[in-house]
Amino acid sequence: GPTSSVLLHIEKARKQFGGVTAVNDVSFDVNAREIVALIGPNGAGKSTTFNLITGVLTATSGKISVQGKEVENAPPQEVVKLGVSRTFQHVKLVPDMTVLENVAIGAHLRGSSGAVSSMLRLDRADEAGLLAEAARQIERVGLSDQIDQLAGSLSLGQQRIVEIARALCVDPMLLLLDEPAAGLRHMEKQRLAALLRQLRDGGMSVLLVEHDMGFVMDLADRIVVLDFGTKIAEGTPAAIKTNPDVIKAYLGA
Ligand code: ADP
Ligand code: MG
Repeated sequence: GPTSSVLLHIEKARKQFGGVTAVNDVSFDVNAREIVALIGPNGAGKSTTFNLITGVLTATSGKISVQGKEVENAPPQEVVKLGVSRTFQHVKLVPDMTVLENVAIGAHLRGSSGAVSSMLRLDRADEAGLLAEAARQIERVGLSDQIDQLAGSLSLGQQRIVEIARALCVDPMLLLLDEPAAGLRHMEKQRLAALLRQLRDGGMSVLLVEHDMGFVMDLADRIVVLDFGTKIAEGTPAAIKTNPDVIKAYLGA
């Protein structure tokens, strides 16, 4: 709307690994109820940016705030409490646990210090609460029919949605997704896009790293383009598609 409220604010964020500047004074915002895509060639600094936002890495300099609170020195569990949740590119579901059990792990992470092993110390009342919350999120993403199936028996598209249900258990304002469409079939991508729009229309914001340009152009409200750690463009899909700097970065010209 005309008075868009800033949820995530990134101002001149910088991350150096020795002599490599992975993220070079990058600034952008994510507003409430907005889907923003972070794109760029391999090595552009997308994953590092995610890690700065979520507290996995500490910025060399710059400012990152969530809902007005600075997070650049906050540990991951503090960032979660401020309403930021993520899926991981390589942390997958446990294939021989059910959908419900996999999502309940996410419910357990809510407000806790994050040790999955402490799940073993839950009493029965805690466990019932976690399972109820997990079931609520599974229903929200439209997978109630699969709730008792083993995660490993689902299609890749369904598994991706289970991962999102798990991330939703911490009741985030902002969902960070690392390549959610990778490897999915056309129909699965469409279902995923519909879910993300549904979450946005329900008031959530989404920031995603994605290589699938068709998916990004169709889904994102706004796109931020990184190249060699630097933001080279930002705008609507229509503007980004025809931006000469973006075309040059992707063609390697
Ligand atoms: P992207 O996700 O866009 O492919 P990354 O954020 O993973 O890019 O990497 C950006 C740059 O930072 C690359 O040059 C990469 O080699 C470097 N880099 C990333 N993580 C580390 C690290 N832990 N140590 C040293 N260099 C790193
Ligand atoms: Mg990456």
